[in-house]
Order: sequence, then structure tokens, then C-alpha cells
Amino acid sequence: MAIRQIRLEGDPILRKKSKEVKLIDEKIIQLAQDMIETMRDANGIGLAAPQVGILKRIIVIEGEDNPIIAINPKIVYSEGEITDLEGCLSVPGFSGFVKRPEKITVEYTNEKNENIVIDVNGYFARVFLHEIDHLDGILYIDVAEKIFREQEEKEEV
Ligand code: ZN
Repeated sequence: MAIRQIRLEGDPILRKKSKEVKLIDEKIIQLAQDMIETMRDANGIGLAAPQVGILKRIIVIEGEDNPIIAINPKIVYSEGEITDLEGCLSVPGFSGFVKRPEKITVEYTNEKNENIVIDVNGYFARVFLHEIDHLDGILYIDVAEKIFREQEEKEEV
């Protein structure tokens, strides 16, 4: 495993659309494992492949026990609406309020090539939505209602 460099806002790769993964081979597994290591090293809770410069539809999310590797993730259902704070490893030092669905159903392929369909809600749903946006070149700062520098946050919230 290796820690990869996290691309920062302004890097054009973050604005491109990622491609579907057709074959889950050792290279893809290695990439996903590097993404987990990179996410943990940066104290993140989710990371998308374009954030390490790879335009493939892969995200990793810190789970309750084990991290989730979601390949070709799709939101197949969403319900409700909730606004909460989020941040992004590609936009360090900032956070912002983003309105997102409250409950979602996500379909993806895991690293064992199994098709997974899960219902997620609350902050976990937010992380999925945020990471899937990255695969379409969307950053939360595009959709945030308000963005703060992290030291201002305490005064303004
Ligand atoms: Zn992000």
C-alpha cells in the first residue's frame, strides 16, 4: 500500500468525469487500498479516485468496522432533505453547509466483484453523495449554501 498525493481544488482533474470500471483486477484493488491508506493518513472519512488523480468510478468510505470500497456507485433512490456541514480533503481549511437527500439507496460493486445494494441515511448518506459527486467533477463548494474558513466557523455557526 502507498499513500498517494491528494489533488487540491484548482487541479483540472477534479473537474473531469470519471469512467466506469469494467474489470476489477489487482490494479483496481491496489488503487482502492492506496485510497484507504491516503484517506486515513489525511484523517478523512471518504475519498474518491479523482482526488488521487485517477479518473475511475471508485470511492472509499470509512465504515463502522471496515472501510467500504464502492466501485461504479449509483444512487438508485433518494428521499428527504437535510442541510449539514461538510468538508473535503481537496479543499483544506474550509467547510460549508450543503443540502442533500437524507436517505438514499446506493448500488455498487465491491472489491470481491459482488453487487451490493444498501440503504444509508444521515451523515453516512452525505459522505456517499459527496464522494459520488467527485466522480462527476462536482465539488461540494459548487453546491454549498455557505462556505467558511475553518477558524471562522465557530463565530458564524
Ligand atoms: Zn471531497
